[in-house]
Amino acid sequence: MSDWEEEYSATEIQQPKKTQAGTPWVPQGRQRYSTQGTIEETHRGSGSRAQGWQGRGGWSHRPDESSWRDVEQPREHRANSSSGWTREFRSRDYSRDPTNCPMSFRLDSSLIGMVIGRGGSKIKELEELSGARIKIVKEDNDSEVKIFGSNEQQDKAKGLINGIIERQQKGTDFEYKNNRSNDPPNMGTSVSVSGKPMIDWTSLRENKEKYEAIKWADMPPIAKAFYKESPTITSWAQVEVKKWRKENNNIICDDLKEDGKRPIPNPVQNFQDAFYPFPEVMSALKIAGFEKPTPIQSQAWPIILQGIDLIGIAQTGTGKTLAYLLPGFIHLDLQPIPRNQRDGPGMLVLAPTRELALQVQAECSKYKYKGFESMCVYGGGDRKSQINVVTKGVDIIIATPGRLHDLQMNNFVNLRSITYLVLDEADRMLDMGFEPQIMKILIDIRPDRQTVMTSATWPDGVRRLSKSYLKDPMMVYVGTLDLAAVNTVQQQVLVIPEEEKRAFTLHFIDSLKPDDKVIIFVGKKLIADDLSSDFSLQGIPVQCLHGNREQCDREQALDDFKKGKVRILVATDLASRGLDVHDVTHVFNFDFPRNIEEYVHRVGRTGRAGRTGESITLVTRKDWRVSAELINILERANQEVPPELMEMAGRYEEFKKKKDGERDMVPRKGRWRNDH
Ligand code: AMP
Repeated sequence: MSDWEEEYSATEIQQPKKTQAGTPWVPQGRQRYSTQGTIEETHRGSGSRAQGWQGRGGWSHRPDESSWRDVEQPREHRANSSSGWTREFRSRDYSRDPTNCPMSFRLDSSLIGMVIGRGGSKIKELEELSGARIKIVKEDNDSEVKIFGSNEQQDKAKGLINGIIERQQKGTDFEYKNNRSNDPPNMGTSVSVSGKPMIDWTSLRENKEKYEAIKWADMPPIAKAFYKESPTITSWAQVEVKKWRKENNNIICDDLKEDGKRPIPNPVQNFQDAFYPFPEVMSALKIAGFEKPTPIQSQAWPIILQGIDLIGIAQTGTGKTLAYLLPGFIHLDLQPIPRNQRDGPGMLVLAPTRELALQVQAECSKYKYKGFESMCVYGGGDRKSQINVVTKGVDIIIATPGRLHDLQMNNFVNLRSITYLVLDEADRMLDMGFEPQIMKILIDIRPDRQTVMTSATWPDGVRRLSKSYLKDPMMVYVGTLDLAAVNTVQQQVLVIPEEEKRAFTLHFIDSLKPDDKVIIFVGKKLIADDLSSDFSLQGIPVQCLHGNREQCDREQALDDFKKGKVRILVATDLASRGLDVHDVTHVFNFDFPRNIEEYVHRVGRTGRAGRTGESITLVTRKDWRVSAELINILERANQEVPPELMEMAGRYEEFKKKKDGERDMVPRKGRWRNDH
C-alpha cells in the first residue's frame, strides 16, 4: 500500500456529511472545483487571487507572491478548531511545520490519480520537491488535498499540483470535450454483412485529423520566415554556386517535397550574408572569433531561416550545432507571442548522449543570445534539480530522450509551447533504441513546428523518422552520402596478435610528445577500466570514460582531458561521436569498433577545426570481417594499406565463398539448393 493510502486508512478522519441527495458535503461558501478540475479556490487565498495564476501552469512566476500568503485560516480549521479531526491531524504530527495551518483544497477525484501517481510515486516526488507533506482524503466525486509545512513549502507543493493538472488538461482537453459531446464521433467501426465489425480506416483517419485539429486549435500562430537574401548572394551565377558546393566538402542538396520542387537557396559566403538583419547574432559570432561559415552552415542557414524543415547529413566537427542553433535563436526571439507570455520552452534539442547534450548546451550558453535560458535534461543527472529548473521555466531544453520522456510522463514539462525542434544525431538516437521515446515526446509537440534533423549517416531508420516527423524538408549532405573518408587524418593500421596489443600500446604511449593528446578507444567498459588502471599503476596519468561511470566522474574525465590535466583518455564508443575536443592529436584504436561507421566517427575525433591528426588502429584476426570495408576507407582517403590487411581481406573472401558454397550444398526439402 502506498504512503498516502496508509495514512488515509490509519487516520480516523471525520468524513464529511453527505446531503440527502448523496452529493458530497461542501462547507458553506466554499467554491467547488470546476468540472474540468481546475482548482478554483484554496483556503489560504481568495478565489480571485488563486485564479490569477491558475491557468499559467507551473511555468510562470505568480504575479503576486503575497496573494498566497493570505492570513486567512483554513476554513476547516476556523470552523472546526475544536473538532476531532483537526486535533487528530495536529496530534499525529503530519505537518513538517507544526506551527503552520495546513493548506486545503478540493479536487475532482478523476484528477487525483495524476497527483498521486502509480503506487504513490508522484506524491512522494512532489513532497520531495516541495519539502511539504501532502495528504489526500479520497471521496466519491471530489477529494480533499491537504498540504502541511511552511508557507513556502505549501505554496511550492500547490504550484506543482496546479502545474500537473494544467498541463494534463491542455494535453487532453480535446478528448474531454469530445467524450462529453452529445454526438460522439464515429470511432471507425461498422458492421459488415456477415455481422462482424469492420474497421473503417477512412473514418478513423478523418477522426484522427479532426482530433488533431481540435487538440492544436488554441495554439498561437508560428512565425518561421526570417531570411532576407543579400543582393550578392541573389546575383551569384548557378554555375558558380555548383562549383562552390563541389569545392566545399562536395555539398549536395535536395528538396524532398513531393509535389513540386522548390529552388534550393544559394549558400551564404560569409556571416553577414545570412545575419545582416540580426546585429546580435553578428556580434555573438564576432566574439566567437570565427572567420567564415563552415560548409554546412553556409547551405543550412538560408534554408532554415526561410522556415523550411532541414535534414543535415553531417558529422560532429562540421559546425552542425551552430547551423541549427543560430536560426533557432532568431526563431525563438521573433515569435508573435512574446517570450514572457509563453507557458513553456520554445526550442527543444534531442540528443543521443549526455555528453552531446552538455556540449550543445555549452554552445547555447556561449552565445547568450538575448538572455535565453537553456537547460540540459539527461539521465544520470540530478533529476530533482532538473525538475526544479524545468518547472521554473526555460527557453531552450536540450535533452536525451529517456529522461525527457520521464519528465513528460510525469507532467513536469510542457512541450506544447515548442515551435523549433532539433533531432541531433538521429542515427545515433535510433542505434541507441530511443525511437519509442522520441515518438512519444513528439506527440506533445505541435505538428506545425519547424524541425531540423542531423545525422551522420542516412540509413532506413533515419529516412523513416524524417518522413514521419519532418514536413517537406530540404536535405543537405556534407561529404558523400556513404561514409566520408576522413581526409585530415593520417590513418595507420597495424595487424597484430591479440596478446601483443598492450605492449604495443605502452610503446606507443612512450613515443608521444609532451603536447600530444590521445583518445584510446576500446570495445568494452571492462577493458577501459582495466587498461586505465594498468596505466595508472605504471605512473601514466589517464582518465577513463564509459557508460558505467557515474555522470560526475564522466564529466570530470572529459573536463580533465579537455583542459589537458591528463593527455590520455581511455574510452568506449561513448566518446566516438559528439565529443568536441579540438586538440586531440591521435586516435588509438586498441580494439577495432563494431562497425566501419564507428571507425570513421572515432577517427574524426582528431584532425578537427582545420588541424591534422593521426590515427593508429590495431587489427587482429577476429576483425577480418571488416577488413575489406576498412581497405575501402583507407584507399578513398589515399592512405597506405598494409599487405597483411590485404591478405586478411582475401582470406575472409575465400572463407565466405567456401561457407556460401557449403550452405548451398545443404539439402532443402530433399533437393540440393543449387540443383536447378
Ligand atoms: P560541431 O560540429 O557543431 O560539433 O562543431 C565543432 C566545433 O566547430 C565547435 O567547437 C564549434 O564551436 C566550432 N565551429 C562552429 N562553427 C564554426 C565556424 N564557422 N568556424 C570555425 N569553427 C566553428
